[in-house]
Amino acid sequence: MLRYDLHAHSTASDGLLAPDVLVRRAAERGVDVLALTDHDDMAGLALAADRAREARIRLVPGAELSVSWGDQTIHIVALNVDAQCTALVQGLEVIRSGRDGRARRIAAALEAAGIPGAWDGALRYVTSERLISRAHFARYLVEAGFVRDMKDVFKRYLAPGLPGYVEHAWATLDEAVGWIHAAGGDAVLAHPGRYRITPAAMRTLVAQFRDTGGDAIEVITPAHDADDIARFAALARVHGLKASQGSDYHGPGESLVEPGDLPPLPAGLVPVWSSWQ
Ligand code: AMP
Ligand code: MN
Ligand code: MN
Ligand code: MN
Repeated sequence: MLRYDLHAHSTASDGLLAPDVLVRRAAERGVDVLALTDHDDMAGLALAADRAREARIRLVPGAELSVSWGDQTIHIVALNVDAQCTALVQGLEVIRSGRDGRARRIAAALEAAGIPGAWDGALRYVTSERLISRAHFARYLVEAGFVRDMKDVFKRYLAPGLPGYVEHAWATLDEAVGWIHAAGGDAVLAHPGRYRITPAAMRTLVAQFRDTGGDAIEVITPAHDADDIARFAALARVHGLKASQGSDYHGPGESLVEPGDLPPLPAGLVPVWSSWQ
């Protein structure tokens, strides 16, 4: 049985480890197949692929796309893509292009909430000039002592309804799935248990995702407890979607679950990798 971890971040987005270091860590932890899925960018894939060859593990080229669905932000993981595909490369560029202006608005909102210097502070944590995320702001807020830890940041500042959160229009679901399919990849609804929507809205989301051509649901993720796993396994079966699993690893100290440290997929699900060569 191969060990799969199909969701992880590097310094190409808001992970703490460089792509090659991440791959080595995953290999050491017994991962056989690792997907690098940085937010809205694939800039880490080349380095990761080089190191994966050395470490004799399989590197699945991927990304995690930011999508607006109604007033919600959802994430669609792209797996097993052709990273040279122009439609996907340009689509990710469009998503990233909104991030700087959004970050400026986050800094202004934090300033208004009594936290000065967040722009410069967040920039100190940015590791790719191509991308700034809320995680970079969160690390600064922890460092500056405004909150205890990363969890606390998103309880008090950077999540919907809180000071420091700003609305933003990402890609549409149609666009994201279209780009992923143009690149020959699978589109995976990431960590659905994290979305703060009603059960009815969740069924609508999953049905719409499937109708748009979506391929799989991320059933196993550290964001899911046992009830979530059962619920999303059932939704995958009912809607004829495949299932995926990933640690959503961001780095040592920050992520509690290490690469590959995942329970098995529930029985009766079709793994997203079942159709891969
Ligand atoms: P963004 O794509 O800029 O909205 O940033 C999203 C990122 O913020 C996530 O991928 C995580 O790295 C981080 N994040 C969001 N919510 C939380 C949370 N509750 N706890 C820890 N990190 C979070
Ligand atoms: Mn992240
Ligand atoms: Mn995500
Ligand atoms: Mn992620």
